[in-house]
Amino acid sequence: MKKIALCLAVLLLLCGCGRTEPEPAATPDPEPAPVQEENSISFLAMDTYMTVRAWGADDDQLGAVRDAVYELDELLSVTAETSEIARLNAGDTVTLSEQTRTLLEKALQLCEKTDGALDISLYPVVKAWGFTTSEYRIPHETEINELLQNVGFRRIGLSGSGAILPEGMEIDLGSIAKGYAGDLIASMLREDGVTSAILDLGGNIHTVGAKPDGSPWRVGVRDPQSDGYLGVLSVEDKAVVTSGGYIRYFVGEDGETYWHIIDPSTGYPAKNGLISVTIVGDEGAVCDGLSTSLFVMGLDKATDYWRQNGGFEAVFITDDGQVYVTAGLQDTYEPRGAACRVIGSKS
Ligand code: ADP
Ligand code: MG
Repeated sequence: MKKIALCLAVLLLLCGCGRTEPEPAATPDPEPAPVQEENSISFLAMDTYMTVRAWGADDDQLGAVRDAVYELDELLSVTAETSEIARLNAGDTVTLSEQTRTLLEKALQLCEKTDGALDISLYPVVKAWGFTTSEYRIPHETEINELLQNVGFRRIGLSGSGAILPEGMEIDLGSIAKGYAGDLIASMLREDGVTSAILDLGGNIHTVGAKPDGSPWRVGVRDPQSDGYLGVLSVEDKAVVTSGGYIRYFVGEDGETYWHIIDPSTGYPAKNGLISVTIVGDEGAVCDGLSTSLFVMGLDKATDYWRQNGGFEAVFITDDGQVYVTAGLQDTYEPRGAACRVIGSKS
């Protein structure tokens, strides 16, 4: 009998019948968010393998994104003879599309802001080293000095509708084009209502929103000396762009390593103490341009640039394996193995 009474009491409690206070008015459960399926597309463009993973995007939307990058590549490619950039390089007067003009203006602004550490007119020098064809060679000093005569972005004016380059000059937007392509894809996906996506454009990572479960995306920072990672960044709605001496390089007959990031002040691969620069920011094109130019600057000048301009964060890896992160990444960068030093906003 006692047992039955106890069971009844428990049952009443479970049913809530034992409460004396009135029940609050029932609130309907919030509409469950529709489960978003992952969809992805991979394609080759801008000399790299690109993968777009987006939750809730259909095949047509991803196909449109790929086609937009193909179109951009056709405008900007230095090797496709019919591209606007190739025609400019051939000495033609070219009526630039809005996209090319926008990117060219953005690139020139960054060249100016970085005081020429980024210089889109360095292309003839990059070519001479064989970085455009993978037929690598060490150009003679006199050849480099001759080619440098035609380098200098400040000579490029963009007034009027028909653009033309000063004689002998050639440009290449390769240092920022992939970042721009990431911005384009991310904005197309956002317009389609996608709130969760991650793009890998040959090592440039762009994130839209957070992961589908609401947690931040985790992006690894590669160890330049091995296949592993030196740290992991937690990001949402950001571009994470790395320029590294380990990405494209060759070892010359002299045993020296020569990489594809060139110091415009010398015409030689930039060896200013950094081996990898990762930029985290809102705009992929800017992050891309900055990853290249801050690599050229070396740690001290790059740090000064960050302090003076802001608007982005960075992970610097020096050629002796030290890792430095700017203050804004203190809580988002998780070191793996190698400890990191934090660069504050004041020296
Ligand atoms: P990746 O293309 O590997 O992502 P970057 O974004 O750093 O790397 O761009 C490097 C490319 O930019 C080089 O392959 C070369 O074509 C060009 N380049 C190299 N040095 C410079 C420079 N100082 N300014 C502008 N473009 C550069
Ligand atoms: Mg770059």
